Amino acid sequence: MPKVIDQERWVLARRLYGEGESLAGIARALDVSVTSVTSHRNKEGWVRDEITEAQAVVAAFKPEQTHELTDIERERFAAVEAELAATRAEAERLAGLVEEQKPTYEVKIYDNPEGVEEYLGTSRVDDLVDLAFGQINIERTKQGLERISPKTVAPEAYAAKRAEILQDFVDRRTKWVNPESLVRCVKLYNPHTKTIWQCPVEDQFNNEKGSQGSALRRYKDKGHKLVTPYMCQRFNCWNYAAQEDGKYLFEGYCSPAHLATDPYISGERKQGMTTSAMAAY
Ligand SMILES: [Zn+2]
Repeated sequence: MPKVIDQERWVLARRLYGEGESLAGIARALDVSVTSVTSHRNKEGWVRDEITEAQAVVAAFKPEQTHELTDIERERFAAVEAELAATRAEAERLAGLVEEQKPTYEVKIYDNPEGVEEYLGTSRVDDLVDLAFGQINIERTKQGLERISPKTVAPEAYAAKRAEILQDFVDRRTKWVNPESLVRCVKLYNPHTKTIWQCPVEDQFNNEKGSQGSALRRYKDKGHKLVTPYMCQRFNCWNYAAQEDGKYLFEGYCSPAHLATDPYISGERKQGMTTSAMAAY
């Protein structure tokens, strides 16, 4: 007795053949003999679906056809990844060590308005000018005056405001210097807070009187670094110390004016400085 196959299953068989399934595969799927499948194919004229070579290649690489990782393979990949992560962490740690071993920390400060613009970027400076106009408008509104806009104001007025803002940045390096305060200090970089701070190096601090340089040594031992280029020793002055050909022009200060505030440098030196030299700074 031949097996009775309903029509729907032969429709499936024809579709499988079109998709490239083998005769044996179809026979297994339908639970019939290969001969039966062959005779149906010949009688009904089944044809394979045409696929281009490119489609065949794409089909061969379908994600669902890639093989599942075995547990062993998964473990191996995990081990390799862990090793890679450990190597990366070690490289980072070593790079950090190298950085920590450096006795100095480079700083960049701007000397002029162009330097400020280069440091901040033009669009940031433009934003600051906009903010400044906003401030101006708050004042104008209080006074019952019409608002002004950076876009409509005269170009010279805009340029003047911009120059003023840039100059303000340059001035800030010495803006907070208190003429009453005569503390001499050395600028150090604190690697823990990533900030520059002012270490007092006068006799009354940190046993400086008993052992010169002890204040700096104490912090250097904790990983603090000397800032280079060397910055002015005046408290709250953030200028570089003036140098020429590797020599300090003003004993580690930025200017004769700030040198003059040093409470320990001999009076003769200060007296020897002309007022015109003072005015130049
Ligand atoms: Zn200074």
